Amino acid sequence: MRVEPETFDGRCTCGAVRYRLTSRPMFVHCCHCGDCQRQTGSAFVLNALIETDRIAVAGQPEAVGVPTDSGRPHDIYRCPTCRIALWSDYGRRPPLRFVRVGTLDEPAALAPDVHIFTRSKLPWVTLPECVPAFEFYYDMQALWPASSLDRRRAILGSG
Ligand SMILES: [Zn+2]
Ligand SMILES: [Zn+2]
Repeated sequence: MRVEPETFDGRCTCGAVRYRLTSRPMFVHCCHCGDCQRQTGSAFVLNALIETDRIAVAGQPEAVGVPTDSGRPHDIYRCPTCRIALWSDYGRRPPLRFVRVGTLDEPAALAPDVHIFTRSKLPWVTLPECVPAFEFYYDMQALWPASSLDRRRAILGSG
């Protein structure tokens, strides 16, 4: 029996950019930090961490740099027409992308694996007890499945 890989389709609002994740992501962050709230205009961001070469894209997203407190670069890739944000590159790491889960056709398909920066979580957001949550960041080595750590090492080395 052949097992087809799971895929996940998404697009911007106008449809000029369409994409497919050709596998499950390595991990999914729900980030409640103030930067993510401002950048999304919402309570949190949902980021699926995946290898750039596992995103099949039709269209040409444009990188727009945004200022950060840390000074580390953060480029948000947007549709050149409707300017919807599709994914981010945090720290100029070309092989790694943080895909905005809300741009998937079925965003419910990728639930958060962790909630981070909950110290700035909006008070009316209630988190499920079964998902780990941290006031700041978290220990990736402790939380990620071994297969995902292997995938990350394959694209970034140990860093
Ligand atoms: Zn668009
Ligand atoms: Zn954040």
